[in-house]
Amino acid sequence: MTAPAKPLKAPLAVLFDLDGTLADRAAALARYCRLFVGDFGEALGPEVDAVQVEGAILAVDDGGALPRRDLAVVLASALPWRAPVSSETLLRHWNERFGAVATPFPDVCGVIDALEARAIGLGLVSNGGAAMQWSKVQALGLAPRLGAVVISEEVGVAKPDPAIFHLALDRLGVAAADAWFVGDNPDADVRGAEAAGLTAFWVATGMSWDGEAPPRRCLTRLGDLMAHLA
Ligand SMILES: [Mg+2]
Repeated sequence: MTAPAKPLKAPLAVLFDLDGTLADRAAALARYCRLFVGDFGEALGPEVDAVQVEGAILAVDDGGALPRRDLAVVLASALPWRAPVSSETLLRHWNERFGAVATPFPDVCGVIDALEARAIGLGLVSNGGAAMQWSKVQALGLAPRLGAVVISEEVGVAKPDPAIFHLALDRLGVAAADAWFVGDNPDADVRGAEAAGLTAFWVATGMSWDGEAPPRRCLTRLGDLMAHLA
């Protein structure tokens, strides 16, 4: 057990990671597989269902770390296609459709509402491709509510580089010492944000914690953040 963290001063802004923090990847993947079966049903045949597609993806997905081009190659060969579909078609389908099925964790809306009610600035810092990450932000309904959305591909710098956190803070007009960051990636999010001068929380809804010492500030779920604002 860590020593209890000192009470925190309320922040002027809270920045969030996207995948595994606001967006529930498992839920999105299940939705995507239903969509996949709907769109490729004729080529797959009626005996292939969404559970089988999801199993084929999860067998190789590595939490999304497998390059999508490689995933498309696997799906083109591993599924029992009645009429073959090219990996290029499957890659395009992923790129065009996966963002739109982004699904928020159940407590996202309540947390955003509560922070807005306290006039706390809101931002997002995400590593990834601009088109995909923006389509997720839109699907989650968060675009109008975030004062800063910084995506690594757009700005040419990625977490854990402190520069990407500072870009978001500059857009919000808030100093690092007055900001919190919430993310699931121990290195990119937690150590990155701390190195940039923010107060960081690790949330246990995405990646596993990787350090020998436990995280200094840990949330079982996003909604637990509110207890730190009391
Ligand atoms: Mg993440």
